[in-house]
Parts: sequence; structure tokens; C-alpha cells
Amino acid sequence: MAQDADVIVVGGGLAGLVAATEIADAGKRVIVVDQEGEQSLGGQAFWSFGGLFLVDSPEQRRLGIRDSYDLALQDWMGTAGFDRDDDHWPKRWAEAYVAFAAGEKRDWLRAMGHRIFPVVGWAERGGYDAMGHGNSVPRFHVTWGTGPGIVEPFERRAREAQTNGRLTFRFRHRVDTLMMTNGAVEGISGAVLEPDGVERGKSSSRKVVGDFSLRAPAVIIASGGIGGNHEMVRQNWPKRLGEPPKFMISGVPEHVDGRMMGITEAAGARLINRDRMWHYVEGIRNWNPIWPRHGIRILPGPSSMWFDATGKRLPAPLFPGSDTLGQLHYIMSTGHDYSWFILTQSIIKKEFALSGSEQNPDLTGKSWRMTIKRATNKGAPAPVEAFKQNGADFIVRADLHELVSAMNTLAGNDLLQHDHIKAQIEARDREIANPYVKDAQVMNIHNARRYIGDKLIRTAKPHRILDPDHGPLIAVKLNILTRKTLGGFETDLDSRVFGNNREIIRGLYAAGEAAGFGGGGVHGYRSLEGTFLGGCLFSGRNAGRAAAKAAG
Ligand SMILES: Cc1cc2nc3c(=O)[nH]c(=O)nc-3n(C[C@H](O)[C@H](O)[C@H](O)COP(=O)(O)OP(=O)(O)OC[C@H]3O[C@@H](n4cnc5c(N)ncnc54)[C@H](O)[C@@H]3O)c2cc1C
Repeated sequence: MAQDADVIVVGGGLAGLVAATEIADAGKRVIVVDQEGEQSLGGQAFWSFGGLFLVDSPEQRRLGIRDSYDLALQDWMGTAGFDRDDDHWPKRWAEAYVAFAAGEKRDWLRAMGHRIFPVVGWAERGGYDAMGHGNSVPRFHVTWGTGPGIVEPFERRAREAQTNGRLTFRFRHRVDTLMMTNGAVEGISGAVLEPDGVERGKSSSRKVVGDFSLRAPAVIIASGGIGGNHEMVRQNWPKRLGEPPKFMISGVPEHVDGRMMGITEAAGARLINRDRMWHYVEGIRNWNPIWPRHGIRILPGPSSMWFDATGKRLPAPLFPGSDTLGQLHYIMSTGHDYSWFILTQSIIKKEFALSGSEQNPDLTGKSWRMTIKRATNKGAPAPVEAFKQNGADFIVRADLHELVSAMNTLAGNDLLQHDHIKAQIEARDREIANPYVKDAQVMNIHNARRYIGDKLIRTAKPHRILDPDHGPLIAVKLNILTRKTLGGFETDLDSRVFGNNREIIRGLYAAGEAAGFGGGGVHGYRSLEGTFLGGCLFSGRNAGRAAAKAAG
């Protein structure tokens, strides 16, 4: 039967774009299908902060950071905690991925025009021992231009391939079935959705106006994860994290619906580690939402005091920015699905960053003039100030009594006791007078300020929370925000998908979030951050190259 292409890619997000451009560059014909319209090309990556995990980069070296493959691998393995038979391929992917991040990743991107903001961020700092969770050193490299800046080189390459006829886009094509013959893939079929000019990121119409089928000897599944589908998140919620939260907000657009996972499984593909996920605990409801239940993640610096719903300070080392899943585990164990930051104006000004391209107009717009204001401005960046004024989860008061009373009103209960909170803040404040301390969070602040990048733009000078000169006081109600799927389709290093009989399914590949960013779960249980976009780049590239090679 006539083939429509050498390879079909399902999904025009970052992983799909990378795979498709590799195929076209190898001289093969590729079709990219996506259920969304052309305006949403790039998927989640467009909205992302563009943070990339790189190891021993020139940016790190310039800031005096000594990093290496061995140190990064030690951190990755301590963070992943691989402990299952199913972790065979994820572990091999992890070793290969860390080598990619320490090797050709930066130069490969740079050759395509990608650039990096010079101050390297320090995400997921851990706080356990050297073999435990977390980045020993700063490794979060923000793309100059954030999410759009990482999509741009691949979109450009895709458009060139479109012009020379090697790549075809089929937007508003929703895949409903993988067509299989004798255990091998032979194409896809599905529904054509009505055209919809809705703005990027907003939910688009699901009205079906036709059907389609396309044939090719190879299909790459790059359909993203499940974070927009709260039902599916709850169904797969791991028991080790307690009951699934009753209330969650969405860190991803609605098209991250997980539907293609079921369709691919129905064709016999082996989905592993579905109970591993990466959701944030510092989610705030967007006062200016784009997608349903739109939440934004605060990327916090280390100084805010963190309290659970009953007003008890989170135990060490659960400081802001240290251990996302440790925090999620703790918060769910309280029987409530939210927690609180209490901080000062001095802290919000220096330490609050919001994850998302639209929340960082300075970096996204590549404006040095605006970006420099992060270090010199009197107030917080404008999007943070806008949240402070308009965000449903923000409370600003000069006085602690009033702050706590407004926190109880917002939560709709009276769980917080002023005297209890005051005693904990005052105790912490007494530790600030000396450069050496007992309080582990304050110790952590001093440690952060020894890193020039944090001192410049991420960590406020230590001060008393109740010092009115640093006020007003700010409380932020933090919700659980769904984001990433860490499990996915089990693949070998060529991104070829295994079937339930543990044999490779001929012609079937998976990349990006659908493949757990490689192998079915390259992260294991936890992430070092900046590893998701990178996982899409690496697994998309492997899938594209392998599928093109197989096409002969
Ligand atoms: C706000 C935000 C900030 C982030 N910041 C970072 C960061 O700083 N660093 C980092 O590493 N990661 C970050 N991430 C995560 C990262 O962006 C994503 O994990 C990654 O972009 C996923 O890419 P993907 O190609 O696998 O999937 P997606 O981007 O979800 O693309 C999948 C595509 O497949 C299409 N599709 C799905 N099902 C079908 C079907 N049945 N038929 C046809 N088409 C279908 C979808 O419409 C979509 O276009 C962030 C994410 C968000 C949302």
C-alpha cells in the first residue's frame, strides 16, 4: 500500500519538532500531526521558562562553579532512586542523558542560534547527604528568550523542511488509533477537528468535521504527558504520596490530556512508571488565566518561611527550592492540600520568580535593559507585583495579627494561631544576628549567598522577617500544581518502544514526556530540574535519527 511519508510524528511539541527536523535533515519525508492549531506549535515548551540542565558549562565556570559528569551523575542517581526492574532502560537513559548534558548539548543548541542567560540558577538543592537528592551545584541554565527561545531553532528548521517539501504539518488532526498489522505499526487514523483560531494555550474546539488516516512504516509518539487531565493524575497518584489532592491547579494547557497514552497502550505498547509524576507545591492561581485552572509555579529563593495548613513550620530540609517531592509528601501527610509562605517585601523583590515565558517579559523579550532591573529595582519584577496585587492567593499586611487573620479568612477556617506563628518567626529572627547559626534554613541562606549568582539576583540579604523596614509582610497560599509525567513508554536508546511481550514493536518510537523523557522514566522518582526540555531534545533527537536510519 502507498505510504504517505517515511515517518509520522504525533505531536508538534518540542520532542516532536526535534524528531521531525532530524528526519527531514536526513532527507526523509515526515508528517507532523497535532490536534491543536498552527498557533500552538511548540506545545508546552513555548510556555516554559526555558531552563536547561547543563553540566560543566562555560556559564558555570565563569561563575566559579566546579561541575563534572561524575558529580552530576552522582546527583542524578541520588535523586532518581531507581529501584525497580523496570528501571533498566530509564537508568541507561539517565547515564546517556547526563553525558549529553555534559557534552554536546550546549554546542549543538548554540550552533542553531540558542543562547543562555549568564547567571546559572540553583534548583532542587536537596539538603540531605552527598548521595541524596538534589543538585550539588547550580545547573539551571535559562534560555535567553525562555520557552520561545528553545522552540525557535526547531520551528525554523521545520519551516525550512516544509518549504523544501520534506516536512508536512497536519494541524487539527487528532489521532484516535494506531494502525497495526502483524504486530508492526502501519500508520495512524483519527478525527479532523474544526478550524479554531483560538489564542495559543486556550482550549480549542473538539468538534469533529471529518476523519483521516495516514500510512508510514514508522510512527513517533510525542504527544506529551497527562498534567492537564486531573482525573488521570488522580487515578495514577502514587500511594506513597498519600491521598490525591482534592484541589489542584493546572500548570499545563488542556491539550496535555494524556489521551494518546491510552491509544498507544491499546496498540500493545508498554507503559511503565505511571505512578511517577512531578507536581509542584508552590502553585498560585493565575489572576489572568490562559487555560482552565491555570496555575503558575513560584520558583522560590531560599528565605521565605514555609508553614503547613495548621501553621507548623515545614521541617528541615524542606526549605523553598530544596526538594519538591519531599515537600509534596509532607504536605499531603498533613491532611490538607495547601501550605503557606510568609515573607517580606525584601524577599519577594529578590527571590520570587514565576515559571513561564509570559511571566518573564524581560528574559522572553531578550531585553538586557529590563533584565538588569532584576538586580537593581526597588520593587519585584512587574509580573510578581501584579500577582501581589491581584492574585487570589496573596495577602499583604503591615502587621502579623492582621496577616494571620486574613490567612484564616482566605483558607475558610481558623487553623492558624497568631501566637504560634509569631513564636516561630521570632525564634528564626533571633538567629539572624550572627553569620553562624543553629537554624538549618538560615544556614542554607548563608550558603546560598556564597554563590555569586544567588547573591546577585536570587537571595535576599538575611534580615528579620518581623523587621518593619523590610515590610510589608506577605503571605502566599500555595496550591498543588500539576505539571509533569515522569513515567512513559519503555524505549531503548533508539527510542524504539517495547511491547507488553518485552519485544520491540516494529516501527513504533516514543519521545519527550510520552516516553518519560526517555526510556519510560529517565528521572526515576525525582528531577534535578531543567531536565524536561533537555529530555525532549535528547529523546526527540534519538527517535528522529533512529527512525530516519531505519527508513534506509
Ligand atoms: C509553564 C511551564 C514551564 C516549564 N518550564 C520548564 C523548564 O524551565 N525546564 C524544563 O526542562 N521543562 C519545563 N517545562 C516542561 C516542558 O516544557 C515539557 O515537559 C515539554 O515541553 C513537553 O514536551 P513534549 O513535546 O513532550 O509534549 P507537549 O509539549 O505536550 O506536546 C505534545 C503535543 O502533542 C499533541 N497531541 C497530544 N495528543 C494528541 C493526539 N491524540 N493527536 C494529535 N496530537 C496530539 C498536543 O496537542 C501537543 O501539541 C515547563 C512546562 C510548562 C507548562
